[in-house]
Amino acid sequence: MVAAELEVEVVLDAHAHVGEGPVWDDRTNTLVWVDIMGQAIHVYDPATGQDKAMDVGQPVGAAALRERGGLVLALRDGFAVLDELPGELRWVAKVEEDTPTNRMNDGKCDPAGRFWAGTMSFSGNMPAAGALYRLDPDYRVTRVVPDITLSNGLDWSLDNRRMYYIDSMTQRVDTFDFDLDSGSLTNRQTVLDIPKDEGLPDGMTLDAEGGLWLAQHGSGTVRRYLPTGEIDKVVRLPVKMATCPAFGGPDYSDLYITTMNFGMSAEARQDQPLAGALFRCRPGVRGRPAFRFAG
Ligand code: CA
Repeated sequence: MVAAELEVEVVLDAHAHVGEGPVWDDRTNTLVWVDIMGQAIHVYDPATGQDKAMDVGQPVGAAALRERGGLVLALRDGFAVLDELPGELRWVAKVEEDTPTNRMNDGKCDPAGRFWAGTMSFSGNMPAAGALYRLDPDYRVTRVVPDITLSNGLDWSLDNRRMYYIDSMTQRVDTFDFDLDSGSLTNRQTVLDIPKDEGLPDGMTLDAEGGLWLAQHGSGTVRRYLPTGEIDKVVRLPVKMATCPAFGGPDYSDLYITTMNFGMSAEARQDQPLAGALFRCRPGVRGRPAFRFAG
């Protein structure tokens, strides 16, 4: 099959160091996203075009919505909550705080209201330096998958029976059998192998039809994979480092994509002036509402 090509529009020329973790807040019709190395939470309102940023004082890998309002965060030193935005961070569980070379990275809530996020070395290439963690609504932390090099995208199948997961340095997208009641993972399997010349597998989201949208960092593309593994759509961006896709808009028909400029040479920045911008496309497929943290 020939994959359909999709173009993007720039919605916010944010110059984010490491734009990441977009999540649509259906209560406010805004997009929450993070700038990991910019140490900030952002809230973008497409109705006004305004973006508000809040400094959180250390690298923040991910933010997720809470059922009671506010956000749960995966920061350099562990998990914290914000009861409102802007507001005071409240630490709920430190993670690997004795490993200053590590930070938390991508995270997302599961259908039972737990928050999952993994760690990585700041360099991203220290083998098995990180792990994947689960924060339960009572703030207990479980180290679920050890020996991860660069913990990244995650999401759940439409029937909640599988969790998709990426350790970027494996160049793979894997699945686990997911037990919704206990939050345990078993039976790791590889569902996609990404060739190195097609980028590093980074953030991902599943749409309402079970298609998997994967940011292929370094390639300037986000691709939609069918359950068979075939690529049926390719989103092309004017920058190489696409980091994470997420559906938003009142009917979840907009696909937002974060990007970054961290580590780029002066020459590369000149060639890609929009690196770090927030992009959007209308892919003709709808997404699903984000799950909220129950704690
Ligand atoms: Ca990422």
